[in-house]
Amino acid sequence: MISIQGKGVSTGVALGPLYFYKRAKAEITHETVEDTAAEWERFKEAQAKAVEQLGELAEKARAEAGDEAALLFETHQLMAEDLDYEEAIQALIQDEKLNAVAAVSDTAAQFAEMFASMDDAYMQARAADVKDVSTRIIGILTGAVQGGIDSEVPVILAADDLAPSETVQLDKSKILGFVTEGGSGSSHTAILARTMGIPAIIGVGKQVKEEYAGREVAIDGTKGEIIVDADENTRKLILKKIADQKKTRELLEKLKGLPNKTKDGQSIRVYCNIGSPDDVPAVLGNDAGGVGLFRSEFLYLNCDDYPSEEYQFEAYKKVLSDMGDKEVVIRTLDIGADKQIDYFDLPKEENPAMGNRALRICLQRPEIFRTQLRALYRASAFGHLCIMFPMVTSVWEVREAKKMCERVKKELTKEGKAFSDSVQIGIMIETPAAAVMSDRLAKEVDFFSCGTNDLTQYTLACDRQNADLGRFFNAHHPAVLRLLKMVCDNAHKNGIWVGICGELGADLELTETFLSIGIDELSVSPRAVLPLRQKIRETNVAVCKDSILGTLLGDKTQD
Ligand code: PEP
Ligand code: MG
Repeated sequence: MISIQGKGVSTGVALGPLYFYKRAKAEITHETVEDTAAEWERFKEAQAKAVEQLGELAEKARAEAGDEAALLFETHQLMAEDLDYEEAIQALIQDEKLNAVAAVSDTAAQFAEMFASMDDAYMQARAADVKDVSTRIIGILTGAVQGGIDSEVPVILAADDLAPSETVQLDKSKILGFVTEGGSGSSHTAILARTMGIPAIIGVGKQVKEEYAGREVAIDGTKGEIIVDADENTRKLILKKIADQKKTRELLEKLKGLPNKTKDGQSIRVYCNIGSPDDVPAVLGNDAGGVGLFRSEFLYLNCDDYPSEEYQFEAYKKVLSDMGDKEVVIRTLDIGADKQIDYFDLPKEENPAMGNRALRICLQRPEIFRTQLRALYRASAFGHLCIMFPMVTSVWEVREAKKMCERVKKELTKEGKAFSDSVQIGIMIETPAAAVMSDRLAKEVDFFSCGTNDLTQYTLACDRQNADLGRFFNAHHPAVLRLLKMVCDNAHKNGIWVGICGELGADLELTETFLSIGIDELSVSPRAVLPLRQKIRETNVAVCKDSILGTLLGDKTQD
């Protein structure tokens, strides 16, 4: 039995085989083959598998976002079986005796160049398609795995760390828990784990060795403990914890349908954070009152090129209509920093967390922003939409973003396209500048939502991705909490509501503080809704408020 200590960032216990995440990048080598017939056969098998995978992806996209989303994968299916493409590969394998991987790679390069040099914009765009299809076939030929997991059974997934673009591609039904070498509590692997309600442990360094792959591993996300090949007694204890976990869940189920009201009658809304229309059943299943943060950039991370207005419209419409009359806050594109997307072609930055990201990109590339806003407003006709801008630091940014909304609404009116006239506009408060300016910003918008992941990072000058900062990264720091109180007061003075959508919202040690400072809404991962409801219902604000505010604002505040 081997015991390893890391940092738990998503609670729960899981037991299963350890599996190392496989990156989809394949090594391409040029080799001469003797048995060209066998090599051709290998290609044909990989091609058939690619077509099958693309068919499955098309069906998934159709179910999630409609016909247009499926079309991309169907085009790729046709491309994979295109006769000219196939003949070019065949010639390289059979005549030049080239290995299949190199034959596909060379053909892809040749076809992509040919498409890119055409005058027609539609044909030019096919260059990206042929490259994409070929990457998939090469991946199959080399055993590199699209989506990271090639296992029949669910696994405990180990990785160095996962980029947001990798997490969106994961087959979630195959994951029992996460273990990562690096990462941090507010990294997107941790956020994903909490959204999925499964345990995650980060910062284990090199302690989880490749040779443990396939062996039974238990992880305890509360303690941050990993056990490889547990002995019989330990295994029994782990199975008991899993059974207890199930029982606690069943008890929490009883809270469904009850109000989020404290003992002394103060109400607070409990909403959910989501990254895809797929997460909505978990939101409704956990009885949340709405969606407090839909990270729309995950739609962009899931695409190989800028998602069209139609693609986005279908996805937003699906979330809004599935949520019925419940409020849905959709955050406009928040890329940059840790969420990089190749096709945006952003210049490399020394310090991307403080660079060109989120609203800054949208204001500088208005066509991208306009497409998203058009999709959002069109979708607003199908539900209760709130639009939220990320990474605000100045009043002028909000004014410009709002102007863009007005322009889009005018366009849609002219085109006779329906949209709701009661869409609320809000901003994230996730920079100290926005918190300090919240008295002025409150006059510009309908609501605030505090992004405590970034607000903590910027206030404490502590990189949220850095697992080594330990106690320096303290989300309970009085500087962060005082800023939250200030934002809350400024919001209420100006008659607007204020929520928290950062990970801190689910921190039960702070629920009393958030209720005491008057937060109106907490947006958390779906599995955190019922534990939070339980905590709210146990709280008596009248009893704890004075001492909490006294400590927070007085000179006895934590040093
Ligand atoms: C935040 O910063 O708290 C937030 C909710 O946004 P993200 O984690 O996506 O940066
Ligand atoms: Mg943020």
